[in-house]
Amino acid sequence: MPIELTAKPILIAGASSGIGAATARACAAAGMPVALAARRLDKLEQVASDCMKHDVPTSVIECDVTDAEACARMVDQAETELGPVYAVFANAGFGQESPLLDMSDADTRAMFETNLFGTLNVVRPAAERMKGHAQGHLLICSSCLGLFPTPWYSIYSATKASQHHIGRALDVELREHNIRCSTVHPVGTKTEFFDEMKAKQGTLTVAGSSESFMQPASAVANAIVRCLRRPRPEVWTSAPARYAMIASGFFPRLAGFAMRKAIAKRLNDQARESSTTA
Ligand code: NDP
Repeated sequence: MPIELTAKPILIAGASSGIGAATARACAAAGMPVALAARRLDKLEQVASDCMKHDVPTSVIECDVTDAEACARMVDQAETELGPVYAVFANAGFGQESPLLDMSDADTRAMFETNLFGTLNVVRPAAERMKGHAQGHLLICSSCLGLFPTPWYSIYSATKASQHHIGRALDVELREHNIRCSTVHPVGTKTEFFDEMKAKQGTLTVAGSSESFMQPASAVANAIVRCLRRPRPEVWTSAPARYAMIASGFFPRLAGFAMRKAIAKRLNDQARESSTTA
């Protein structure tokens, strides 16, 4: 039997745009009260007004996931305003495209602070609350790259692999408390993710080639709602991508060859484009 989601509150950390905002709207449409957290309050208010159209209670919480105490307060506030939280989605994250040797220690640590430690800061207090309620569902936004160590995204892939490992382990460790944990593995998705990288870095080399094939954030959101109804360990929106990522682990030489060819082509295309515009 699918789980009835009506009146079961969800807290989403990283709900101000993209996948988190789309998930908030989809959960509200499924009847779930939603607590929306992130750093940009104005954006959260816009998402909240979309959610309220579904007549569900909403709560807006300013929170930076790199601050463990603020995350504990975020969980407290969500419970005070909406009642016992049933589900929590640790979604906050960002990327940076860079060859490994060009990535500074400061940038590397900053990405782990948000993507890995931010996830821990969210799921730890949430899981403690859920233990008290003897039920719950944690979701962690990893990536398809969590299973595929991608050149120019090695640090980002490492953060996403760490989230995947944590999620898989938590699903086993917390089962005795009737708490599930699912990792979410989106493929390229149209959100602010790439815009933000471009704003910081200028032209993207590797990601730039695939932007036209991106899925809408609602595809991930709908898959998450399906997983809330029928819990499973991993959420994927593309079966071919999933099997390709798994196969790359069995055939690393072939995966490396394909990546070298793809990146060489991309660099050539970019060189040609810049010589024609010069
Ligand atoms: P967006 O940039 O649109 O959303 C990122 C969200 O994370 C925003 O709500 C942002 O809110 C929040 N966030 C970032 N840093 C912090 C922080 N320190 N504290 C609190 N919130 C924070 O991108 P996406 O929707 O694409 O990204 C969501 C997740 O999906 C990320 O974990 C990303 O790695 C993952 N992903 C994305 C893919 C894609 O192709 N787009 C593919 C695979 C995975 P604010 O800035 O207001 O704080």
